[in-house]
Amino acid sequence: MIAEKMKPYLQNNSAIRAMFEEGKKMAAEFGADKVYDFSLGNPNVPAPEKIKEAIKEILEQEDPVFVHGYMSNAGFPHVRQAIADNLNERFETQFSENNLIMTVGAGSGLNVCLKTLVDPGDEVIVFAPYFLEYGSYIRNYDGVLVQVDPDLDTFQLNLDDFSAKLSERTKAVIINNPHNPTGVVYSEETVRRLAEIMENKQKEYGHAIYLISDEPYRELAFDGAEVPFVTKYYDNTMVVYSYSKSLSLPGERIGYVIIPDELEDSENTITAATIANRISGCVNAPSLIQLAVAKCVDAEVDLGYYDRNRKTLYEGLTGYGFTCIKPEGAFYLWVKSPVEDEKQFVDAAKKYHILMVPGSSFACPGYVRLAYCVSYETIVNSLPEFGRLAKEFC
Ligand code: PLP
Repeated sequence: MIAEKMKPYLQNNSAIRAMFEEGKKMAAEFGADKVYDFSLGNPNVPAPEKIKEAIKEILEQEDPVFVHGYMSNAGFPHVRQAIADNLNERFETQFSENNLIMTVGAGSGLNVCLKTLVDPGDEVIVFAPYFLEYGSYIRNYDGVLVQVDPDLDTFQLNLDDFSAKLSERTKAVIINNPHNPTGVVYSEETVRRLAEIMENKQKEYGHAIYLISDEPYRELAFDGAEVPFVTKYYDNTMVVYSYSKSLSLPGERIGYVIIPDELEDSENTITAATIANRISGCVNAPSLIQLAVAKCVDAEVDLGYYDRNRKTLYEGLTGYGFTCIKPEGAFYLWVKSPVEDEKQFVDAAKKYHILMVPGSSFACPGYVRLAYCVSYETIVNSLPEFGRLAKEFC
């Protein structure tokens, strides 16, 4: 008999994954070029050539016992130092290898942070719409998810509702910038105001409230949008990063957590997080790809590719009369459903072989998400189908 805690997952298995499977079935039936699958944030841009070169070099030149062996649970020290140096150069921070823990992507990084911080009954605040796995991750540690309502005009952080929902039981707050699913980038001013509210509440309650900044899309920002580096605004911040999106390496499962020295009781927290990494069963992040990313700290994915998709899809859909939030970051377009029940809209789109994810999968019904990390041809060929869909609805 499976655990009680797992039973709800059987009923509510990820709608996004279900849609992805449906896309594969439709592609087999109608041909891949006749299916417009915007369901999953699986980058279509290949990883930079430099990654392949680095992997080859490591396999050819390094001692295989070293390359494939266990290492410190936090990851290879020289890998962490190379990443810290790169961050310090770009963001004027002062991290050392001791502030970084290599993780199995951002998913694992978030679990490391929550395992380190959350006791049963502790509240963790998230801002709707949000990556729904946050709920699963918080429940892993018997934390209580507290949801802040969206600001439906801008989809920036709703700081009024946030202030009202911060309580004595709040242990942590999760933000995600640039944002999945809306494509919004939170400005420096927004982060500053968030930090100020949290500082005041820490003083009022007399205990630390941690900010977990989930940043797998950090480098994916368009039109010169600046993504503030949150540790500079709030001391009790943990940053969760992943190379899944920024270097198109989602299957390699590689990322890191930053715990700055300024964080309260940082030494114990870093040790606890390293242990959390180990006892989560991950032990350490995969070694070969750790070594490879250390050689590619300045590698970049082709941002122009996503930018072209972003503009073409946004202009195409708004041209047909759909209301969309203009994305500034990540690779998602957030579209207002023309009917109240967005699942009806999602179902209707399937007739035109368009797959999109209902907003209720991000705790925000009435909207849909399109992941535009697909080929440009998919975007261009999908537009006439969106036109037909618009005739039905707009
Ligand atoms: N956080 C957000 C906001 C995401 O969108 C994703 C993946 O889509 C993750 C975390 C998990 O990323 P990873 O593949 O690094 O585990």
